[in-house]
Amino acid sequence: MSASYPFQERPPLITVTPQGLYCAPGDFHIDSWRPVERALITHAHGDHARGGSRRYLGARAGKGLLHRRLGADSVIDTLEYGERLAINDVTVSFHPAGHVLGSAQIRIEHKGEVWVVSGDYKRAPDPTCAPFEVVRCNTFITEATFGLPIYRWDDTPLVAEDILRWWDANRAVGRAVVLFCYALGKAQRILAELARLTDRPTFVHGALNSLVECYREAGVKLLPTQLVSEVEKGTSFAGAMVLAPPSAGGSTWMRRFGEYETGFASGWMRVRGNRRRRGFDRGFVLSDHADWPDLLRTVADTRAERVLVTHGYTDPLAHYLREQGVDAAPLATPFEGEAED
Ligand SMILES: [Zn+2]
Ligand SMILES: [Zn+2]
Repeated sequence: MSASYPFQERPPLITVTPQGLYCAPGDFHIDSWRPVERALITHAHGDHARGGSRRYLGARAGKGLLHRRLGADSVIDTLEYGERLAINDVTVSFHPAGHVLGSAQIRIEHKGEVWVVSGDYKRAPDPTCAPFEVVRCNTFITEATFGLPIYRWDDTPLVAEDILRWWDANRAVGRAVVLFCYALGKAQRILAELARLTDRPTFVHGALNSLVECYREAGVKLLPTQLVSEVEKGTSFAGAMVLAPPSAGGSTWMRRFGEYETGFASGWMRVRGNRRRRGFDRGFVLSDHADWPDLLRTVADTRAERVLVTHGYTDPLAHYLREQGVDAAPLATPFEGEAED
């Protein structure tokens, strides 16, 4: 990686404004956190896709999810992955980020200079979305949700087998299992990974259901699901698996399951104290973000001369990169770092 940045004399292609990341020569925002004229959207998670803007542009594979998040009446234009569009003085394109269905990195080119905004991304294979694509650039704006060396993921198929073993063990003694997970992305990924191992139906919380349908409409193969609220009163959940968002934990909604164990599927489960503190019986380490080695690998793969770090452990990652001789700095934004991942 070169120490000098060849476009030093130019104003930065993307800056942070009160509305969000802004590209002046293109006159558009990216994942804006306030309403704007035109917002390019990396993916449908709440801290990236916010309502109220006049028009949106996203990757076509995520159109269904974006409409669900931003409202059916929102004006959402889309591009296929890799398709180029000229906007004022710049050329933009969307490239798979491997994070959730339709998630994209946004490439912006202006007078020979290329910036890539990663949005959220991961390198691990995921049957629910297109795999991450390395995009070479001069400046790479990377996320850092799990930007600490302790965060390293196991292979996903091993985690899926672990979940199934846990379900089987409880099923054998007539207990239900309630697996908490992020409603958009993680839930569908678990249903897709388990569909490779079994065809047993599972139950889902209402908050997950329309998103699960969105993935099915996109052709992703998932376990058969049934809405918990549609189950006849008095039906036994003995031996069943239920997927629910973490917010349902401890609520009266849980009473209907009789005897059950709880689990949480999340990158945060890498730290044992998190599971104990939050009172889950089991933790499954499964994340839709890059772990520490994959953050470093990705920064190197882009061959970027400069790296701006946002979203999560920005300071530790930027600091480490600088120690390795990379021109890196944190970029302050209100992205939340996805506490639920
Ligand atoms: Zn996300
Ligand atoms: Zn995010």
